[in-house]
Amino acid sequence: MRADILTIFPGFFRGPLEHGITRRACEMGLAEIQVHDLRQFTHDKHRTVDDRPFGGGEGMVLKPEPLFECLESLELAAREDRLAGRAQQSVILLSAQGQRFSQKIATELAALDRIVLICGRYEGVDERVADFLADRELSIGDYVLSGGEMAAAVVIEAVTRLLPGAVGNEASTRQESFTADAGVGAGPDSTCGSGGLLDYPHYTRPAEFRGMAVPEVLLSGNHEEIRCWRRQRALEKTLRNRPDLLDGAPLSKEDSKALARIKAGRE
Ligand code: SAH
Repeated sequence: MRADILTIFPGFFRGPLEHGITRRACEMGLAEIQVHDLRQFTHDKHRTVDDRPFGGGEGMVLKPEPLFECLESLELAAREDRLAGRAQQSVILLSAQGQRFSQKIATELAALDRIVLICGRYEGVDERVADFLADRELSIGDYVLSGGEMAAAVVIEAVTRLLPGAVGNEASTRQESFTADAGVGAGPDSTCGSGGLLDYPHYTRPAEFRGMAVPEVLLSGNHEEIRCWRRQRALEKTLRNRPDLLDGAPLSKEDSKALARIKAGRE
């Protein structure tokens, strides 16, 4: 996959792209990430990328020209072909007003050949970018950041770790929180598949640390008991922290009974 990031702060990405799995994915040739400085696509002495809003109001707005010129220099497929799915490419504007980014969208993006991430700043980006240049707007959550760079780094990290081969143990990315499809043969009953729930709790050595013991069942070696315990804890945690996820998760009879027990125990 190739990813291009359009920003007025190219230096921002030196940290996020140079660590962990993202770095590894680039070194292995699974991902190629290029950061483009929007100021290089300006033509005035001051390299102006922003201007005052038409109609008045607070702050400054990112001008359309550098964004259009930068994107044109990338020689992508035509927007109609991208939108119709004839080209495996997507141009994404990071925006607080966008559709909420999720594991599902990360999986969709990981299947593409190219993604382009446009980072806004100030009061935002001239709306013609959303209307005529970008294919979609994505938000990383219901809060306002000062720029799209942090959001672009989040999208890049979530997507690159899904590229086949990026994570050493590929099965592990299918077992995590929010992953609805746990893989062939692993429904909501499998030991680890999250099946749309939050992940189960993990522990490692030492078995006892400052008086805090690892749950006994995990040391038992009884795989069936461990599977049940993990599933129960995933259900408990999802009910406590993200009850909304339970509506969309495929629950087995065993799950429903466990949930009823958990709810009864809370009353
Ligand atoms: N006036 C805008 C906020 C602009 S913040 C509003 O009220 O919606 C400046 C830039 O930060 C945006 O253009 C966008 O690129 C980025 N940004 C802010 N919050 C974001 C979020 N939750 N997700 C993704 N990008 C965000």
